[in-house]
Amino acid sequence: MTVVNQTPFTATVLGLPRVGPRRELKRATEAYWAGKIDAGQLHAVARELRHAQLTELQAAGLDSIPVGTFSYYDQVLDTAQLLGALPQRVAGIADPLDRYFAAARGTDTVEPLEMTKWFDTNYHYLVPEIGQDTVFSLNPQKLLDEVREAAELGANARAMVVGPITFLKLAKATGGAPLDRLTELVPLYRELLRLLAEAGVGWVQIDEPALVTDLTDDEIDLVRSTYTDLSASSQRPAILVATYFGHPDAALTALAGTDIEGIALDFTAGTGVSDVVGVPALAGKLLVAGVVDGRNVWRADLDQALSTLGTLLGSAASVAVSTSCSLLHVPYTLAAETGLDDRLRSWLAFGTEKVAEVRLLATALTEGTEAISAELADVRAALATRQSDPRLNDAQVRARLAALGPDASRRAPAEERRALQQERLQLPPLPTTTIGSYPQTSAIRLARAAFRKGEIDEAEYIRRMRAEVADVIALQEKLGLDVLVHGEPERNDMVQYFAEQLDGFAATEQGWVQSYGSRCVRPPILFGDVTRPAPMTVDWISYAQSLTDKPVKGMLTGPVTILAWSFVRDDQPLGDSARQVALAIRDETVDLQAAGIRIIQVDEPALRELLPLRKIDQQAYLDWSVQAFRIATSGVSDATQVHTHLCYSEFGEVIDAIAGLDADVTSIEAARSRMEVLDDLNAAGFDLGVGPGVYDIHSPRVPSVEEITTSLRAALKAVPAERLWVNPDCGLKTRGQVEVEASLRNMVAAATAVR
Ligand code: GLN
Ligand code: ZN
Repeated sequence: MTVVNQTPFTATVLGLPRVGPRRELKRATEAYWAGKIDAGQLHAVARELRHAQLTELQAAGLDSIPVGTFSYYDQVLDTAQLLGALPQRVAGIADPLDRYFAAARGTDTVEPLEMTKWFDTNYHYLVPEIGQDTVFSLNPQKLLDEVREAAELGANARAMVVGPITFLKLAKATGGAPLDRLTELVPLYRELLRLLAEAGVGWVQIDEPALVTDLTDDEIDLVRSTYTDLSASSQRPAILVATYFGHPDAALTALAGTDIEGIALDFTAGTGVSDVVGVPALAGKLLVAGVVDGRNVWRADLDQALSTLGTLLGSAASVAVSTSCSLLHVPYTLAAETGLDDRLRSWLAFGTEKVAEVRLLATALTEGTEAISAELADVRAALATRQSDPRLNDAQVRARLAALGPDASRRAPAEERRALQQERLQLPPLPTTTIGSYPQTSAIRLARAAFRKGEIDEAEYIRRMRAEVADVIALQEKLGLDVLVHGEPERNDMVQYFAEQLDGFAATEQGWVQSYGSRCVRPPILFGDVTRPAPMTVDWISYAQSLTDKPVKGMLTGPVTILAWSFVRDDQPLGDSARQVALAIRDETVDLQAAGIRIIQVDEPALRELLPLRKIDQQAYLDWSVQAFRIATSGVSDATQVHTHLCYSEFGEVIDAIAGLDADVTSIEAARSRMEVLDDLNAAGFDLGVGPGVYDIHSPRVPSVEEITTSLRAALKAVPAERLWVNPDCGLKTRGQVEVEASLRNMVAAATAVR
């Protein structure tokens, strides 16, 4: 066997962000989609970003740099393209870039691939579709080009690809299980390895995060046989298999038993030093130790990392320092932030700062800790201020939580509540409602921009937003909806809006993180104990309610979703943070009720997303997340109707938890799954109000009255009329006004017909 270059490296990261420090790639990609720039111009922007990034990483002293982590949209889609597995329906599009984007976003005539969350992160990948007609073939050009480009810059490039097992585990297949197709993929990966060796690549990183999920014994056997096969290639780079987001467990032993040269493990998410010490087969390999958290923003405790690394030294042939996962999940650099207070800032590390941490640790490992003594002292001092900062330890909040007895999260039996609420609300059967947001009109966007630039003052901004609220109320009255909403015009984002008003959270200015494609989000940073200095939504909702006699729903975001879309504290269990947020939301519900609001909706679209990857950890999560929701929603009287909204996922694994939330009404995404979720809810003994989305809001298409009627009749087979609500799948914020009005008119007509 000729392995090109087995020299182990010492300092690296597992992957890189690509949107650009100022979202340059987002702008260029959107300009390309809009026809404002051509492919050449888009490629030039991308190349420049890669160059700058590579140069920066070289200067920072990484001795192995991942290449191939760049993507125009998504790394799983790139892998589908690499393996010739784009769906047949885009094959007719001649231009490769347009074909790629068509698979990602669809066109007028072509449906895009489905999108879903990447493990337990808020990053979305495109789900590969593997059909009987899929004939895999290798298209290595993108990766080889990037490898050559890196070589030209003199970088020690480590080519990176998503591994065959993860790729297939994430795919959906027709006619057989995805993993049945593994035998077709392995020869392609072998060929790719040969080409990379030929291009002079010393190491290849094969990402297999799927190995940290529960695998069957047969699947573990496939891990063993696949990597035995790949490492038996006669001409190939040294192979590093990267796992992250958890502990590979039995897959680690399987991997270690093969002839691959290196394994990356995530020591920030479940892998402990003892797990490694128990695997003697690691002794001949390079262990890439993910000790710097790649997906949260906290500065690493270097002493602790060094102690982990020190213990690992004896267990492997060599140890390299790394981030736990790709830096895709954190902002580029702290240097871009001007608004954070000095203390908080000294506790944080974004992408650039994490690279520096990796470098420091690697230096300490080879030269001894004296070589970084000044930096160690600095970190210790900063972390000491974090431990003692009063904002992290609010005695009042903690006392309030400790004093909450079991009654604080209990309401009267559902039957009793239903009677009280019905008497008060007098709703017709099959009540119609919407999920919260209405279209973000250009007036809203203009007002927000003008306010941000200081062109209008707060009073004027509020006046304009109130005008939007009034329009939305008038529209709903005209359409004849039964339960109204204010439309959420004042909210930039359903998490950020609350984080900005709660103590304990900080906002960033440039902390953008890719969510999917060109879409980026700026997650708030939860750093301290959470308190609510003042009511957050009462003025808006009361104003909306003052315009109509119909009930207006108070709209809040739930504790789990607020945490899921923020960077969270790492110094206390997530459940503790959730209870603090829940208390703040609870106070808000009580204030809304006092202001005369009769229905309150607490959205939890991220309930499924935070579900731990391994079964064994799931129940504990479901317990605290349900408890947090109930703390948030049990402060109001039994006559106040509590709604919740769930979307973005298959609910199978959390169905009992949905019942456990005990919300009077649950609106849930269902249009695309053809109401199957209702049967699942029935099986779980769910007997509360439910509004399965009767049409899919992700498309601009206006559903006909007949279609919605059919949906409703299907729903009525599973749910009795007294419990059934009529609503769209999700909020209407991304839709146009004309289609929204037409769709809702048809929805109300269908409900009337079925009544
Ligand atoms: N109330 C929110 C809205 O309508 C819910 C959004 C969501 O489910 N993601 O926009
Ligand atoms: Zn939704």
